[in-house]
Amino acid sequence: MGAFNRVAVDLCCPWCSAQVQVYVQFKFGDCWQFDYRLGDTLAWGGNDQGRPGLARVVVDGEGETCPACGADPPDWPFYVFVEHDRLVAAAPADGRFDFLHADDPWLVL
Ligand SMILES: [Zn+2]
Repeated sequence: MGAFNRVAVDLCCPWCSAQVQVYVQFKFGDCWQFDYRLGDTLAWGGNDQGRPGLARVVVDGEGETCPACGADPPDWPFYVFVEHDRLVAAAPADGRFDFLHADDPWLVL
């Protein structure tokens, strides 16, 4: 329970092509069901994952249900980019980063 945070991402749904806001779950910072927006600064000092203060990090994310068509893929991977504890960007994963063979669900860039 509460083992992840979420960030709201505006995008074009790949299934229904609607412009929607999707929540992306990720595990970085104090993981306690916080809902963030891009530009927000992450909280630390609780159920922490990762390390604070890193210059640039990419975090493994997981998209939730599309609010327009209800598509709920079992695996909808996202990249969540964090700079100096600030959520700067999030985008659907394109295979650039390999989390499968990483020790943590985040990588220092
Ligand atoms: Zn959709």
